[in-house]
Amino acid sequence: MKNDFREGLLEIDLGAVGDNYRQLRERLATTSRCGAVVKADAYGLGMARVAPSLYRRGCRDFFVATQGEGEELRQLLGDEARIVVLTGVRPGCESDCARAGLIPTLFTLEQLRHWVALFRRKGGRAAPCALKVDSGMTRLGMTSRDFDALLADRALLEAADIRLLLSHLACADEPAHPQNAQQLQNFRRAGQQLRALCPEVELSLSNSSGIFLGEEYHFDVARPGSALYGVNPVPGQGNPMRAAVTLRLPVLQKRRVDDGCSVGYGASQRVAAGSWLAAARGGYADGILRAQGGRGCGWACGRRLPMVGRVSMDSAVYDISTLSDAERASLESIELLNGEITVDDMAGYAGTIGYEILTSLGHRYGRRYLES
Ligand SMILES: *Cc1c(COP(=O)(O)O)cnc(C)c1O
Repeated sequence: MKNDFREGLLEIDLGAVGDNYRQLRERLATTSRCGAVVKADAYGLGMARVAPSLYRRGCRDFFVATQGEGEELRQLLGDEARIVVLTGVRPGCESDCARAGLIPTLFTLEQLRHWVALFRRKGGRAAPCALKVDSGMTRLGMTSRDFDALLADRALLEAADIRLLLSHLACADEPAHPQNAQQLQNFRRAGQQLRALCPEVELSLSNSSGIFLGEEYHFDVARPGSALYGVNPVPGQGNPMRAAVTLRLPVLQKRRVDDGCSVGYGASQRVAAGSWLAAARGGYADGILRAQGGRGCGWACGRRLPMVGRVSMDSAVYDISTLSDAERASLESIELLNGEITVDDMAGYAGTIGYEILTSLGHRYGRRYLES
């Protein structure tokens, strides 16, 4: 049987995701709506379960990365949800995009002209789209030169049905970084200029961390992703979000080492004589990133258990010497993620960010959804 619970269990708490959504919504200015970013299979938690659950909690503005994700999400949510595709339309598939009622995010004048030319009905407006401007991140977004040219092209603006103007913050998780205020100023100016000509366009700037920068960053629609799934949006401060995932992996073998010895590939770490070790399921093919070898830890019996040696593809070894004889005897599984070892903790062990931990989780264990 595939994905048997006995080979590990990823528990996803839709109640926690829902609470996180509610909390972010309550933080927003009263004039702002709270959307949800569910790209990359809802950051690995499963879009098919997460998105309808957020919809039931009142979310109507959804953001995905690709058109394929958008088409899948449309099937899940029905016609009322607004679905914005953050990386635009798949070339050659513009009519599929429009037919699914997806709003592509466009970044260049050529894209906008092409989109408008395709869908312009006699005298009418093209299918709706979103426009992204670069306010300082220099990744995706219309350059200021293109944006000025767009503002000067009244015919194009009239034919295009731009619903949303968005931009993305590069340093939102560093509140003191001067680029935040700079990007805010650039975006505000772009928004004012576009709205002077198209008053119905809505504005959207903030990801999860951006919500915590203050009300002036909220605009009409916020786009949180990671914070919904429990990643700390305010690094360095206590995490205000609820943990949404628990990863529990079965112990495969327990042993006492009689003499000092090395553990695992490369014999990279030694343990002393008399140590107790447990090898448990879960390796780098399961999202237990190899970079956390020798630094990471698991959790059992209310205690942290240090990882020993390198992480293998399918398993890793833990030092369980601190457990009592009775605890060791009954030890059947080790938790890698829970309320104690957070996604951000694990990211710290591996030298990465919580986003990469979540999106690496994998599918070789069972998944269970709960509403707590
Ligand atoms: C992924 C993404 C988000 C969500 O960011 P979080 O930091 O996960 O909240 C928002 N906007 C854009 C454009 C994105 O690509």
